[in-house]
Amino acid sequence: MEDASSNKFGSFTKVRRNCKVVGIGNVKIGGNNPICVQSMLNIDTKDIGSNINEALSLQKLGCNIIRVAIPDKESLNLLEKLKENTNMPVVADIHFDYKLAVEAVAAGADKIRINPGNIGSKQNIKKIVVTCQKKNIPIRVGINSGSLEKDILEKYGSPNSEALFESALRSIELFESLDFYNLVLSVKSSDVMTSVKAYEMIANACEYPLHLGITETGNGNLAVVKSAVGIGTLLLNGIGDTIRVTLTDTPQKEVLCARDILYSVGLLKDYGPEVIACPTCGRTKIDIIKITKDVKKRLSGCKKNIKVAIMGCAVNGPGEAKEADIGIAGGDGCAIIFKKGEILKKVDEGSIIESLIKEIETI
Ligand code: SF4
Repeated sequence: MEDASSNKFGSFTKVRRNCKVVGIGNVKIGGNNPICVQSMLNIDTKDIGSNINEALSLQKLGCNIIRVAIPDKESLNLLEKLKENTNMPVVADIHFDYKLAVEAVAAGADKIRINPGNIGSKQNIKKIVVTCQKKNIPIRVGINSGSLEKDILEKYGSPNSEALFESALRSIELFESLDFYNLVLSVKSSDVMTSVKAYEMIANACEYPLHLGITETGNGNLAVVKSAVGIGTLLLNGIGDTIRVTLTDTPQKEVLCARDILYSVGLLKDYGPEVIACPTCGRTKIDIIKITKDVKKRLSGCKKNIKVAIMGCAVNGPGEAKEADIGIAGGDGCAIIFKKGEILKKVDEGSIIESLIKEIETI
């Protein structure tokens, strides 16, 4: 496949994995399509209004695909309303009941997410497959360390990478034996190394697009770091076509974290302003931590794809932040504002933020 550094959506350090293109409503994943962000609604499916509002807020934050749990027939109403009220493709998440999957397709689902292990017989899977085939709807096979087949778990003794891989291969064989190839795969574990290895194995063994994620990470810093390390490692190695950051937190945080991961690995250009800042040290004479927080707050909602540097001292400031479009370098009770490494002016500490924002408005 072509060197992905020529990919208009970003620059990989490695060549992106070659895989099939799968259409999910109006979004295509796989091939050289952008890596898209997805999240999952977490409000009671009977509360349609709140779910629509949540979906719209996620769409605004940069979510490309939305997933919704379909635990019962009544939840299918929500699926229809989401289709009417948002522009995102809707994925129906189904467990245990194949009939719900069939009905979700009829209700307009753009993709079905199932774990074949809990759907039951091959006959039941076949009914889902036939329905999806008729409407050209893809299926994501979500292999998860918490729901592996009993015999595979017994064989490996634990839900390790090999076990996840074997389960995924078994699912591929099952769907291909039913003449179904419109697949997306995920092999998630809550352990980063297990997930990364399982994804690498399945990436080498098939040509289906991969949905990346580290499952059940919990919340807080560790959850974000686990997702970033796991998903980021795979993306930097050219693996992955859509990502979902799984946090025990709001889906809004999931989407923002997913965008941060994509931006950090050079796969998201339309990010808005990035504020870089020095870590502060004994030379720092102005409150860089507060200034950085305030500047970020003032720039929230700004759509300019610029780099803003907040540096503690003039000695290293402009030099260290040459790559920045604009920034400040602190002095004693003052700062200089610089643009592309060139000094613009000196300002008092009290007017640093206003002056900087004013300059940013002119860019
Ligand atoms: S930019 Fe200056 S103040 Fe900030 S960490 Fe570096 S040396 Fe210290």
